[in-house]
Amino acid sequence: MPTETVYGLAADGLNPEALARIFAIKQRPFFDPLILHMAENFELERLVIRISPTARTLMANFWPGPLTLLFPKRELVPDLATSGLPTVAIRCPAHPVAQALLQEFGSPLAAPSANKFGRISPTSAQAVKEELGDEISLVLDGGPCRIGVESTILDVTSDKVFLLRSGGVPLELLEEKIGPIELSGEDAIKAPGMLKSHYAPRTPLLRLQEPWPRDQELPSDTALLAWSNFPVSVERVRVLAPDGDEVAAAAKLFQYLRELDSLGVEKILSEPVPMKGLGRAINDRLERASVGTTV
Ligand code: AMP
Ligand code: MG
Repeated sequence: MPTETVYGLAADGLNPEALARIFAIKQRPFFDPLILHMAENFELERLVIRISPTARTLMANFWPGPLTLLFPKRELVPDLATSGLPTVAIRCPAHPVAQALLQEFGSPLAAPSANKFGRISPTSAQAVKEELGDEISLVLDGGPCRIGVESTILDVTSDKVFLLRSGGVPLELLEEKIGPIELSGEDAIKAPGMLKSHYAPRTPLLRLQEPWPRDQELPSDTALLAWSNFPVSVERVRVLAPDGDEVAAAAKLFQYLRELDSLGVEKILSEPVPMKGLGRAINDRLERASVGTTV
């Protein structure tokens, strides 16, 4: 989809499987939070718990436009959209084709730049075609992008406002409306996927070096995040890839971690994940969430 910043690889922002496909196509070795794009007439309260007065001022002045704001998310927003963070990044794009698409769809679209990991963001439909070719079903040609750089991202979830990424709306213009903005948050974004507060279960998570032996009983104080099928269905086991499909596994990852975390067990073990396709990103996430490995 075209936007005024860059072309986005758009998928249903509330559907974990669609979100997992974004990561699969982009071939990122990690999951990072996505920006949800919404139509001007969309009711933001459906997605977020609170809209601060500062956020309202910014929305009134800069939406639709290249400004992304962070809000505390409602449960409806999948963990894969926020990489497990309790906040969701939302933007209302100004491009008329983006707006028409979003209104027609009636729900938010996640849309990171339509390029493979480590490559530059496309600013024309032709560039998207060259970059992603037949991996996507359709390119909506909205002409060249007017702005050509990503959106400015602000964290407006606390009393202070933090700049998380410089972009389409200059800092000076924002400060004219809401006063001083702190720059220290910018570090958080320099290495995408490196955000400190990513979700980790409260129950210690240990990564197994080998799959759990299928003939061995699982101790009652232990939960297992299995990769492939487990002979008996135990409440303390979740199987990520019963069909070996990493995209489906990615769509389930956060949900399963949360479910196992809520069981009140002593520890969660996770089985090795094959390093292919999204397996890389799943491994990265498990590694960040874990307290170590075990045999
Ligand atoms: P883009 O690749 O232009 O779609 O921008 C996505 C970027 O927005 C991510 O890589 C993060 O750096 C940032 N972002 C999205 N959601 C959040 C969030 N909840 N907290 C902090 N940063 C976020
Ligand atoms: Mg990008």
